[in-house]
Amino acid sequence: MSILLPRDHARLEGVHRDMVRVVERARQAVPFIVTEGLRTRDRQARLVASGASRTMNSRHLTGHAVDLAYWLDDGDGAVEQGEIRWDWPLYEQIGAAMKAAAKDLGVPIVWGGDWASFRDGPHFELDRKAYP
Ligand SMILES: [Zn+2]
Repeated sequence: MSILLPRDHARLEGVHRDMVRVVERARQAVPFIVTEGLRTRDRQARLVASGASRTMNSRHLTGHAVDLAYWLDDGDGAVEQGEIRWDWPLYEQIGAAMKAAAKDLGVPIVWGGDWASFRDGPHFELDRKAYP
């Protein structure tokens, strides 16, 4: 059973099914929301222009990537209510949960938080070697 919300599922539309499976599984271990999945070329061009992204070869353009944000529930039991947190250690938690879920499902993924330059903690993508 997934704890993803309808808005998360909406943002996963057009994302590769194997990545969706990893996200659904990881969400059972760590609270997060999906902030972005499939991205248009226009939006990617704007992100590159603003410096938020460095490539027009983004995996978001092909449905092979997702961005996740840690979701701090306000504690009332309704997961819809809460706030996004950007504290880096929380992204280590998401990274660990996503890697564990990917391993369980046999789906190779890459975490942007492992990139040596331009670390991108919220970003996960299917490994190009297995998903060109
Ligand atoms: Zn991303």
